[in-house]
This record gives sequence, C-alpha cells and structure tokens, in this order.
Amino acid sequence: MVPNIRVGLGFDVHRLVKGRELWLGGVHIEHNYGCDGHSDADVLLHAICDALLGAAGLRDIGFHFPNTDASFKNIDSKILLDKVNKLLIEKNWSVGNIDATLAMERPKINPYVPEMVKTIARILHIEEGNISIKATTNETMGYVGKEEGVNAWAVAMIYRE
Ligand SMILES: [Zn+2]
Repeated sequence: MVPNIRVGLGFDVHRLVKGRELWLGGVHIEHNYGCDGHSDADVLLHAICDALLGAAGLRDIGFHFPNTDASFKNIDSKILLDKVNKLLIEKNWSVGNIDATLAMERPKINPYVPEMVKTIARILHIEEGNISIKATTNETMGYVGKEEGVNAWAVAMIYRE
C-alpha cells in the first residue's frame, strides 16, 4: 500500500529594518534590526506555514491571512502557525516532520534553535525530534549578505492515517 503522505515547500523573505523586534521561529532574538512586515514578520514561521499549507494543497499564507486585513497587523506568527495546523487537522492531516533553513549574517542563530524547536513542537503537537532548524549565512553576498533581508525555506511532510 502506498502511504498517504505529502510534502510541501515554503519560502519567505523579509526586509531587515531598524526599530522592529526580531522574531524568528516564534522566539524573540536580541538584535539591532528586526524583520519588517504586516505581522510580526517571523520569516521562519511563515516559511513553515507555507510548507504545511503547500503539502495539504491549501494555497498559501497570504491567501489565508492577507496583509490587507487589519486583524493580522503585528499578529504573533505563532497564532498563524496554530491556525494553519487547525486547517490541516480539519482535512485529517497530521504533521510528520519539518526541516527548515534560515539564511542571515547576524546574529548567530544556533543558540536559539532549541527554543525555536520547542516552541514549534508545542504549537503543532508533535515531538521535538520531528523538527529541524538550520542556519547559514550568505557569505556576505547579496541582500542577505548585506543584512538587508532574511531568507527562510522549509519543507514539511504530512500524512493521513
Ligand atoms: Zn512572511
């Protein structure tokens, strides 16, 4: 029997600006810049949301949470991830695993990874071992390298019993 599994891909990018808090993976990170955006601009959670929605064939984060909707202004992206998880549950999907990569020059992300994993696992009600978060720099090249923006990619596997 072919197992009932699907995979999805998510990508997101946000500008780095002064005067905004930096939220990544649901965790507040001390930095002199933050991501700009309509919500809290948590680029990593947005990529994960899109990977999950994509796997389930449920369009994308902008479709469900449009940035023209004032109710999503500065919203905590953990709430968006919870809403995405509920959309999957409605369709009888369970989250198998997530693998994500952040690309930014500073600050060092690795110390924050355990807290990000714990936070995401709690929202999705899955084991921490099913979530992987990796961080890299862009070797000072391009908009990521010049610290003008942050990139995040995620893949997600979902399954139905
Ligand atoms: Zn975003």
